Amino acid sequence: MSAPQDIAERKMQFLFALRSKGVTDQRVLHAMEKIDRGPFVRGLFATRAYEDMPLPIACGQTISQPSVVGLMTQALNVQPRDKVLEVGTGSGYQAAILSQLARRVYTVDRHRRLVREASELFRELDLTNITAMTSDGSFGLPEQAPFDRIIVTAAAEDPPGPLLAQLKINGIMVVPVGQSNAVQSLIKVTRTESGFDYDELRPVRFVPLLEGLGRDG
Ligand code: SAH
Repeated sequence: MSAPQDIAERKMQFLFALRSKGVTDQRVLHAMEKIDRGPFVRGLFATRAYEDMPLPIACGQTISQPSVVGLMTQALNVQPRDKVLEVGTGSGYQAAILSQLARRVYTVDRHRRLVREASELFRELDLTNITAMTSDGSFGLPEQAPFDRIIVTAAAEDPPGPLLAQLKINGIMVVPVGQSNAVQSLIKVTRTESGFDYDELRPVRFVPLLEGLGRDG
């Protein structure tokens, strides 16, 4: 067990690391201060929850690096009335941050176990505006479309067509694009009246977006 002052100190360093890596949006920083990353990192790596590192979670997946979560959330420019779709629930941490900024968050993962564990955490933390579901997110979530914002937290070769189709006009999607294990680029797609604008934001490294459901479900 760590003393309370150690935890306070680590949380201060956590926020400092976010700012120094370019997370400057006050609403995003506030959400990341409020949502404790600790409960989203289970087991062996729990003590490293406040380090700016990706960490292993169940089903061979990873919880993203906090500064990358911050930069992606910032690029998404979420507004209070927004309906957001996240593809790649993983630990649920990114969805929890989004829940502080949006009206409603839908998050999907191909692993049933990850969805179950994240849903339990959302209930414990009283994050009532998140709905987590098991499905192949490359097809989006047609029954809830269209979305104001879409965030994909696994790397696709190209932005998936069904996700582009489920974005509202003036909507924004943030997605890592590129071959798995190679350098990927974080792309911001904005839907306009006449098509899509693409901005390349920064190099990133994510687990791949895979087809179908995971073997545990
Ligand atoms: N956002 C997560 C980290 C995601 S790791 C967090 O905050 O912890 C990427 C996740 O994408 C993994 O959990 C993986 O199972 C999921 N994934 C990969 N391909 C998918 C697909 N086609 N549909 C839904 N989820 C997918």
